[in-house]
Amino acid sequence: MSYEHHVLNPATEELVATVPATTVHEVDTAVVRAAAAQRTWSALAPADRARALRRFAVKVDEHLEELARLEVREAGHTIGNARWEAGNVRDLLDYAAGGVERLSGRQIPVPGGLNVTLLEPLGVVGVIAPWNFPMPIAAWGTAPALAAGNAVLLKPAETTPLTALRLAELALESGLPEHLFQVLPGAGDVTGNALVEHPGVAKIVFTGSTRVGKQIMATCADRVKRVTLELGGKSPNIVFADADIEAAAAATPMSFLDNSGQDCCARTRVLVQRSAYDRFMERLGPAIESVVVGDPAEEKTQMGPLISKVQLERVRSYVTGDLDTITGSAPEGPGFWFPPTVVTGVDPAAPVAAEEVFGPVAVVLPFEDEADAVRLANATEYGLSGSIWTRDSGRAIRVSQAVRAGNLSVNSHASVRYWTPFGGYQQSGLGRELGPDALTAFTETKNVFISTESTEA
Ligand code: NAD
Repeated sequence: MSYEHHVLNPATEELVATVPATTVHEVDTAVVRAAAAQRTWSALAPADRARALRRFAVKVDEHLEELARLEVREAGHTIGNARWEAGNVRDLLDYAAGGVERLSGRQIPVPGGLNVTLLEPLGVVGVIAPWNFPMPIAAWGTAPALAAGNAVLLKPAETTPLTALRLAELALESGLPEHLFQVLPGAGDVTGNALVEHPGVAKIVFTGSTRVGKQIMATCADRVKRVTLELGGKSPNIVFADADIEAAAAATPMSFLDNSGQDCCARTRVLVQRSAYDRFMERLGPAIESVVVGDPAEEKTQMGPLISKVQLERVRSYVTGDLDTITGSAPEGPGFWFPPTVVTGVDPAAPVAAEEVFGPVAVVLPFEDEADAVRLANATEYGLSGSIWTRDSGRAIRVSQAVRAGNLSVNSHASVRYWTPFGGYQQSGLGRELGPDALTAFTETKNVFISTESTEA
């Protein structure tokens, strides 16, 4: 049965495009074609594969503004963010291209012969992406997988297939072989699931909710299929009394409002040492109120709408009338708007403080001392990111070592760079993406022993 997805502009609710979904039968065909393309691709000289990826990067760069404008329309991202996102795809392709000729195995000394360890491509890789960062997250899996000699089948989220489809066109225009990188839009439980179950797909790279990630891991387990999971988060922003409180408060709004809070790394639990609590809150209130929320296509806009009506209802359900809040502004009328919101005076176990809201909502919780801060920071099933604000370098190191999370920053909220590893502890994920080892994650290790014993009589 064929079906299609309606892509709406989240800022206006206008129809942007209608995209046919990929059937299970079409997934089968895509896998067969990808496998054939992969055999040719992996047989190319490394320098030729690298050159092809660089040409793709140049093509993305030439269409950066077009891709960014498309992301504004399909996902409601601010234009500044969307330009960064398209640029991130270009940079990932360039970085991965640099790894092709450096993807070397090892030679380990053994008696009686030569022992070599080879890194071979896996074959066809399935990348399943969420709607919150459609371009970068697609590229986090796709670029290193291609560079390591694999073919990629990318399943974008139902609400945001357009930039992924455009990237596939640009790949072809840049000269990448046909069928090597295919985009298969469709429903998660149909098209996505077909990729996960398919015996011809060697690895699944999944980014999305912890709930779906667990299902995918279970399906992969049945086939012992390789899987990387990048899942949810409820990251702490720990502000010690010895920190530059002015700077910490000024940086707090965009640490959870960027991308309207639809960010797995959003610092949504602001933990503030009690002795600095009042000083911090005096500064945080005006900072929240001054965030510019509105048309994401405007250069000055800092925060746009949520992705969909479903997401808006979900965020609303966490912010009930009896909570103490500080709120910023949001446009009235069409679009999926929710204002920047800070919740105070809640128990750390309350749903808004413990669950991933995935909207522009953070809670502020006081703590007493360093041990209490670490206890609160770690009181979560997640472990993706976190920030530590302090002027005491010993404390910065101690707390970085004590917080169980994959990506921490001190006196900063930056946590994603394409050349450093990224991923989560606990229920925030499994495996790592990005960084110098990204290509290796798309290879199988083979050890070969070659005897040097003479066979002459
Ligand atoms: P989601 O889990 O609903 O969907 C993610 C993708 O999985 C979509 O493409 C969807 O179609 C597909 N999918 C859904 N059910 C499937 C199934 N049964 N089989 C195969 N594929 C299926 O998540 P979402 O709502 O799109 O994204 C938001 C979530 O993603 C948040 O929880 C967020 O924290 C997480 N996220 C994590 C990271 C990270 O790097 N850790 C980055 C971004 C987003």
